[in-house]
Amino acid sequence: MEDIKKNLETVKGKITEAAEGCGRKGSDVLLVAVSKTRTPEEINTAIDAGVTDIGENKVQEIMDKFDAVKPVRWHMIGHLQTNKVKYIIDKVDIIHSVDSMKLAKEIDKRAAQHGKVMDILVQINPADEESKFGVTTEGAGELVKEILENCENIRIKGLMSVAPIKEDPRDVKPYFDGVKAQFDELSKIEHPRLDFEFLSMGMSGDFPVAIEAGSNLVRVGSAIFGERDYVQYRKDQEAKKNGNA
Ligand SMILES: *Cc1c(COP(=O)(O)O)cnc(C)c1O
Repeated sequence: MEDIKKNLETVKGKITEAAEGCGRKGSDVLLVAVSKTRTPEEINTAIDAGVTDIGENKVQEIMDKFDAVKPVRWHMIGHLQTNKVKYIIDKVDIIHSVDSMKLAKEIDKRAAQHGKVMDILVQINPADEESKFGVTTEGAGELVKEILENCENIRIKGLMSVAPIKEDPRDVKPYFDGVKAQFDELSKIEHPRLDFEFLSMGMSGDFPVAIEAGSNLVRVGSAIFGERDYVQYRKDQEAKKNGNA
């Protein structure tokens, strides 16, 4: 638990360093602590240490932890199945992973039922990798326009992207640059439900490069909470289900 605080300080220092390295301020970059596989206790430790925003990539984890976590902004950052939107629509503050009209329409419908306007980001898959979700960098414009035309209960707050994994994180810079160019282009659109505030790029392995490319929201998990242990996580979940924990 002590490590979480220490790691958080290290990450914040690196964010400030990267931002100042390109003439920006560390406070211009929002840190979203990615808490998948982590317990509410660990998340609360991070919140006590100053974390204001947390990110989860699974609907089930959001539902499991929601009531046990202190007040914080929740970011849904993972692939979202249409049939699960209803479970998180009243819990999360922003959905980073909108990559189809089908998903947008479901979010729109559920947001309307809750009398809210849902903030979303359009997810870009910049290298067009099979293994990743998201529209192409070029395709983002079309989806943005279609959402603006059809979804009155959605506000588009920007773009999100997961870069390919490269041995040298510098090699992902061109992908981030491409997404940033598209961000700048689309932010020119004037529309009451478009407010390009967030360019969500950068994870533990590549956030300094992402900031250099213009990211103002980084999603950092393992650099704060340590390496994830999915095997242990599943064991713990099983134990809980069977009433042993
Ligand atoms: C897990 C995850 C992250 C954080 O990954 P780390 O490498 O642990 O920092 C960021 N974004 C998404 C979409 C994720 O699923």
